[in-house]
Amino acid sequence: MEDKELFLALLNTPSITPQDGGLLAFAEDYLPDFTAKRVDIDGVKNLFLYKKFGEGVHLCFAGHVDVVPPGEGWESDPFEPVEKEGFIYARGAQDMKSGVCAILQTCKTVTHFNGTLSILLTSDEEGDAKNGTVKVLEILKNENFLPDFAIVAEPTCFRNFGDTIKIGRRGSINGKIEIKGVQGHAAYPQNAKNPIHQIASILPKVAEHKFDEGNDIFEPSTLVLTDIKAGEGVTNVTPKNLTLMFNIRNSPLTKIEDVERYLRSIFGLLYMVNNPGKGKLDFDLELQESAKSFMTDRSSILIAHLSRAVEDVTGLVPELSAAGGTSDARFFAEFGVNVAEFGVLNDTIHAANERCHISHLYDLIKVYRELLKKF
Ligand SMILES: [Zn+2]
Repeated sequence: MEDKELFLALLNTPSITPQDGGLLAFAEDYLPDFTAKRVDIDGVKNLFLYKKFGEGVHLCFAGHVDVVPPGEGWESDPFEPVEKEGFIYARGAQDMKSGVCAILQTCKTVTHFNGTLSILLTSDEEGDAKNGTVKVLEILKNENFLPDFAIVAEPTCFRNFGDTIKIGRRGSINGKIEIKGVQGHAAYPQNAKNPIHQIASILPKVAEHKFDEGNDIFEPSTLVLTDIKAGEGVTNVTPKNLTLMFNIRNSPLTKIEDVERYLRSIFGLLYMVNNPGKGKLDFDLELQESAKSFMTDRSSILIAHLSRAVEDVTGLVPELSAAGGTSDARFFAEFGVNVAEFGVLNDTIHAANERCHISHLYDLIKVYRELLKKF
């Protein structure tokens, strides 16, 4: 199939997460020279394809065929791609059937590669991502067949095609602190332990606290307070308990242990220093890491080759970035695989009238072909 014909065929197939719309079977048939492994768990379909071309490295292209529901406000049918002024409009045009199309075309036409090429496709990225990429990587690990390098074909570019490669992501830590006091009458504060007053002197050390200064890739890891609750909604009773909730989007420079150590020092030691003779603050701290941060070493050969391939095709030197929400790249990083993400623009992802310029698809295929030559 021609590049555009394949792209339109992928877009023409509804595959709302965790449905694959038959696209994984299609991909398997499209690349008959590759050995296929299917991993289906609880209605989630995954496909791993591989072919050994030579003795060198194992490079994996990864992506998802599922898309988010179309939602309201479309000017055309989201699963009937329409071409207008060079743009193709359809759900998944950017996120990420352009990437899937580029992966398939690159692997369809490759004749030489100094190593093993593989493709990991899932239908569970836009959902809860529990039975997708991570499960396939577990199997590959057990079979001693984890790739050395992975390219996730998510849309990464910001303004111009070629302007951004993603090499990491911030993590997310959620937290809750409960201060336990003693309820009382506002007229007799000496008989109560008012948790609002207790945290008053230490709150400035928590609000917007920066755990690190960041670097050229990451913003500082900053604590953001999201909720404070205490009291009965009256003016004559001081509350018994106070609950503080917060979130930290953290870089790899700050770990969950660092957060715990800091908060225990503030609510433990600093409270006592600020409030001599009042004893210890009675508090419970809960922390939960909902996403782990990661960053691929920027001196990695993968980043060097990919940056050069982008520059060769577009003339732009791509910026290395860790911005945006999570993607399956984090799973590759967890398994110790050198991973980077590069794809088309992401300015209309998950929105109504999602679109991708057809020239960006052609250029993405060129970038992947250049990349393969560099290994
Ligand atoms: Zn995506």
